[in-house]
Amino acid sequence: MTKVRPVLPLAVFALLCLPAAGPQARQRGDERNAFRSYYTQEYLAFKKRLVEELGKVPPGKFSEFSKRSKAEPGSDHKVIALTFDACGGRHSGYNKALIEYLRREKIPATLFITGLWIEENKETFAELAKDPLFEIANHGLLHRLCSTEGRSKYGVYPTRDLGDVIDEMELNSRKIAELTGRRPLFFRSATAFTDELSLKVAQRLGMEVVGYSVLSGDAMRASAKTMSRNILAGARHGAVVIMHFNHPEWPVQEALEKAVPELRKRGFDFSRLEDFTVKP
Ligand SMILES: [Zn+2]
Repeated sequence: MTKVRPVLPLAVFALLCLPAAGPQARQRGDERNAFRSYYTQEYLAFKKRLVEELGKVPPGKFSEFSKRSKAEPGSDHKVIALTFDACGGRHSGYNKALIEYLRREKIPATLFITGLWIEENKETFAELAKDPLFEIANHGLLHRLCSTEGRSKYGVYPTRDLGDVIDEMELNSRKIAELTGRRPLFFRSATAFTDELSLKVAQRLGMEVVGYSVLSGDAMRASAKTMSRNILAGARHGAVVIMHFNHPEWPVQEALEKAVPELRKRGFDFSRLEDFTVKP
């Protein structure tokens, strides 16, 4: 899988994508309080069972895990997945123009959304979830990096333990299911870093963890031209491109306006992750 060299250090990704470190603890406390009602007796019993089941499993490798391509080699039908995160918290904006562009161009996409973003954008979320062009995926309840041993990356706020990882994944899946009638099939941890035990947790909760194979560079404040170049350089059959739709000030739409015609010329089709198979 090709990883495109970012134009700025990856630490910038964290700074731009996540709440700042200052009043973080208080903010996190408030955020958790907002979801207090989710911790029902039934949920706590479910979580306890899962912690008992997986508690002895070692954390394993801490890494970015890429989506395994289900694409068949040798086919001349090329498919690429455009994925867009909405991180939430202080970053709960909505790039409406980008979503409208995807609709206009009939480009299917997978949207990884946090519980925090949903809370701030309830009507928009309902509208996106209703649109068959988009697949709703899970980006965590509070946008915490999922590590069962509390490891962090780029200074990003992590989960403390296995129980926290379950909260992050399961509570947002339940939230999405409650609002859409359907549990998400894919999970992406904040920063895309996570550990092998978290992959098992996700699997146990009916989800596959998805990283990316093409870094667009939007979170590094790349220009539309650079992002477009990154996407085109990384485009392969089965590639997963990571972008964001919670920052209307980032030129994601402009980048796609440059890259999409060229991708189409090269014979690529766009696919939601759940449809990520080669058509006969
Ligand atoms: Zn994020």
